[in-house]
Amino acid sequence: MPELPEAEVVVNQLRDRVLGAVLKGCWVGRPDIVRQGLATLDWYRGASITTVQRRGKSVVLGCMREHETRYLLAELGMTGLLLFRLPDASYQKHTHLVLSLDGGLEPELRYWNPRRFGRLYLFDRTGLERFLAKRFGCDPLSVSWEQFQQLVKGRRGRLKALLMQQQKIAGIGNIYANEILYRARLHPYRTASRLKTQTIRRLYDVMREVLLDAIRDGGSSVRDFLAPDGTEGQYQERHLVYDKAGDPCPAKCGKTIRRLVGERSSFYCPTCQRRK
Ligand SMILES: [Zn+2]
Repeated sequence: MPELPEAEVVVNQLRDRVLGAVLKGCWVGRPDIVRQGLATLDWYRGASITTVQRRGKSVVLGCMREHETRYLLAELGMTGLLLFRLPDASYQKHTHLVLSLDGGLEPELRYWNPRRFGRLYLFDRTGLERFLAKRFGCDPLSVSWEQFQQLVKGRRGRLKALLMQQQKIAGIGNIYANEILYRARLHPYRTASRLKTQTIRRLYDVMREVLLDAIRDGGSSVRDFLAPDGTEGQYQERHLVYDKAGDPCPAKCGKTIRRLVGERSSFYCPTCQRRK
């Protein structure tokens, strides 16, 4: 949390409100939050934001100055938020980056993260491309059916682990993996490589449907996710299994949702999602 839909909501608001703005100032509150490129921070002052993109669960700002583009990548981690703020708004504890802006619709963008999981990176183009190639697999919303099929068939491990492996498919975390698998009627521990083609097709369609629905609902506000303008997402109201152990299965099969404790908790219905 935040996962792909929440990052997409953030990106959409940034595009609407700060694309084209000039970075008047960049202030870093905690240097260790910047994992790469801290020494180049000064370069960004005076650059304008020319692109806003999502990569997996991360947000990438392209900043241009004198015909050169460099990038700021913000990982939202478990609890990271990018928030629009007025310059005179008091600084919340754990504000790690402040970008003061000129020419956009918002005077200030702040990166706030109470836990250390959030990270920032400053890259030139080559650095960004290398980082993305190493850490980010295909995007669930743009991966082709052929590519997805190959990915699933080539993987002997558990299906849920594959969906959450960012180097393979970037953007899905524990919440959406659980929701997708329940709706596709697949047990989280099914072996990926043993699924039939038609089953993989169902998973592919459901994956995209769930993520797009969640984006439309503004994401899920679990653990206090907020969009940059401070609005909460609504998709948590439509979660069917995530964090619902003990509740009756929404498909009314008569069973209750169970929880499997692994690296991350899995929530599933033992009847609707048979392990086989
Ligand atoms: Zn059920």
